[in-house]
Amino acid sequence: MDKKLNKKEVENLEKRILRKQVLVWDHLLQKEKEEAFVIGNRYKTFLDNAKTEREAVSEITKCIIKEGFSDIDNLSKSKKNTGKYYKIFHNKAIALAIIGTKPLKEGLNIIASHIDSPRLDLKQNPIYDDISLALIKTHYYGGIKKYHWLVRPLALHGRVIIKNGSAIDIKIGEAETDPVFMISDLLPHLAAKQNIKKLSEAFEGEKLNLLAGSIPTGDTKTKNRFKLTVLKHLNKQYKIIEEDLISAEIEAVPAGKARDVGMDKSLIGGYGQDDRICAFTSLEAILKLDKPERTAVTMFFDKEEIGSEGNTGAKSQFLEQFVSDLQNIQKKDTSQRSLREILINSSALSADVNAGIEPDYKDVYEENNAAAIGYGICITKFTGVKGKSGASDANAEYIAKIREIFNNNNVIWQTGELGKIDVGGGGTIAKYLASYGMDIVDCGPPVLSMHSPFEVSNKADVYMTFKAYKAFLEDC
Ligand SMILES: [Zn+2]
Repeated sequence: MDKKLNKKEVENLEKRILRKQVLVWDHLLQKEKEEAFVIGNRYKTFLDNAKTEREAVSEITKCIIKEGFSDIDNLSKSKKNTGKYYKIFHNKAIALAIIGTKPLKEGLNIIASHIDSPRLDLKQNPIYDDISLALIKTHYYGGIKKYHWLVRPLALHGRVIIKNGSAIDIKIGEAETDPVFMISDLLPHLAAKQNIKKLSEAFEGEKLNLLAGSIPTGDTKTKNRFKLTVLKHLNKQYKIIEEDLISAEIEAVPAGKARDVGMDKSLIGGYGQDDRICAFTSLEAILKLDKPERTAVTMFFDKEEIGSEGNTGAKSQFLEQFVSDLQNIQKKDTSQRSLREILINSSALSADVNAGIEPDYKDVYEENNAAAIGYGICITKFTGVKGKSGASDANAEYIAKIREIFNNNNVIWQTGELGKIDVGGGGTIAKYLASYGMDIVDCGPPVLSMHSPFEVSNKADVYMTFKAYKAFLEDC
């Protein structure tokens, strides 16, 4: 029988063998707290400038060109070779690399995030008249709670390809003097029938239509005269005609800037933090890197929110093509076999958010295995639904390695699952990169109100995620 321990001995035992969850704010020195606020401010600007995947690509490109990255598809002989490269894929995905001192075949350190977010896409024939108003039809993209998008200011961001093939970028609803759009909802007085419907049925996708104008063009005999007014304005401002909207990708997103939340300004509220929080912090991390040992790669994919499909999602050939380009410029063997060798020897973080415990909905989380905002970056061993279905489920050996790197670099981290078993679930891009044979685990900060138009993150977690990604790129 064990001997009874005295108070001191129990304390020592606890210290030695129990894992203590640390709140980042308790751990940071004053100087680091200030740094967390500075990074938080930069992050808010990134969110404001990158509300769509295309805008994210151009914002990232702007940042990296200043830091000496060269376009791997257009290398100029006159420019000094800095060993820093980028590749843009169909304007909606981008990859960065800093060549390391070790040969490529020893593998890469890859951080892969996604830069698409749930939103309302405009349909291809969007504008129509109804009860003497102009309206715009949308088709929602990704997992949303439809009622989140009603009765709030929305902006239109997107790209239109006109007849001659040139691209016109559209942004309406962000400048102070711009109009915004909105989706109207039923007043409470007449909502008796709506109120007793199931939430999943009360709001229909086909009713997510934007209010877009009320002044007619022409007289009462003119057909579609409210739609005509909208098109007239679009034509005046952007020189586009109705048919151009068919070759367009226009997204209705929440209008307005990211904001500090809370009296102490410690939180950030804004649209698209899943997953631009990981895109931003991995970008910051690679920009702060000196010459790494293993080649450092950050990938920013599109289409994660609809299953990573399409030629810009993680299921595309983008990563392979980029790595093949890196082999090529290094005059290395570019055979499929050596490409596979590089990928199989690589280590990756699938940089995506987890769902932080919501104070008012604790019942859907299992608190011992849920992430909480303010407790640092979250290692998510697996995602999936109903018994880990569809999960990548990282190896214990690899998690041990990541844990060691984080501990050695003073990174505050936690682990979490996505909610209680069988209450729901989700997936990330981890499994698509895992199929190359590389080690990969999901790793990103938790956010509140995930997939809503105003997600919330903690500046302490933004800071820790940056530190974690930098440590991974340097030390893995
Ligand atoms: Zn995500």
